[in-house]
Amino acid sequence: MDRRLLAIHAHPDDESSKGAGTVIHYSDLGVRCTLVVATGGEEGDILNPAMDRPEVAANLRAIRMEELDKAAAILGYTEIYRLGYRDSGMPDSEANHRPDAFTNIEEEVALAAMVSVIRTVRPQVILGYDDHEYYPHPDHLRVHDLALKALHAAADPDRYPAAGPPWRVDRLFAPVFSRDRLVKLHEAMVARDLESPLGRWLERIPEDADDSHVDVRVPIASTLSRARDALRAHATQVDPDGFWFQIPEDVVIEVYPWEDFTLLERTDGLEGTDGLDPHDLFGGL
Ligand SMILES: [Zn+2]
Repeated sequence: MDRRLLAIHAHPDDESSKGAGTVIHYSDLGVRCTLVVATGGEEGDILNPAMDRPEVAANLRAIRMEELDKAAAILGYTEIYRLGYRDSGMPDSEANHRPDAFTNIEEEVALAAMVSVIRTVRPQVILGYDDHEYYPHPDHLRVHDLALKALHAAADPDRYPAAGPPWRVDRLFAPVFSRDRLVKLHEAMVARDLESPLGRWLERIPEDADDSHVDVRVPIASTLSRARDALRAHATQVDPDGFWFQIPEDVVIEVYPWEDFTLLERTDGLEGTDGLDPHDLFGGL
């Protein structure tokens, strides 16, 4: 079977911070990986002090597109589909109200674009987003909603007949953070007398939260370093001294060399996680 993976993301840089090691893992295995980016990330702040310059701010959209190209090449994506919608901005910001904001695009229009990509790429596995309980960005919530609807619409011959022959995607997953991962990394940092950036994240997760939503853990020990390079390629979005890079790679590889995914939908008639491989998104297909 020719394996194909389609990852749907909201903004340039999301592809390098969510499931990035996993995409490299599959690309290394010869899986064809395709990236969809819904917006241009125009509302994202310049988070790297070294890049906070007027000429960068004036050309932000073009610069972010170049950063995305670099990151996508590191991650092993074969192609990028840019849907071209405008970044809707953080919750309750003015950008939410612009008619060209992704969050305000008519559902039929955005769905038609995604269905067309799915029917062209014909992936067995899609990566979308979960319901983002801890980060309710309107564009991320829209990806969560549309990816599921697009999966079903793409398989329905009566919908969007102009977008190509129907295609049934087997599985839709979303990258998630497990409590286990945060606790293990935090404790490993503390045990090494390193300052852990994870304390404030742990505070946001209820003590009694379990990890029953984690269905597949993909190994990323051999891809973590490249995933971090991809994130660094987003020079305007990512502070090279920031949160993501404070946990040494060897700590991650020692205590939690996985990226966690939850299964959002499957179309093979099986229930729950029946027949899933605990370490492979394509397992059993
Ligand atoms: Zn985002």
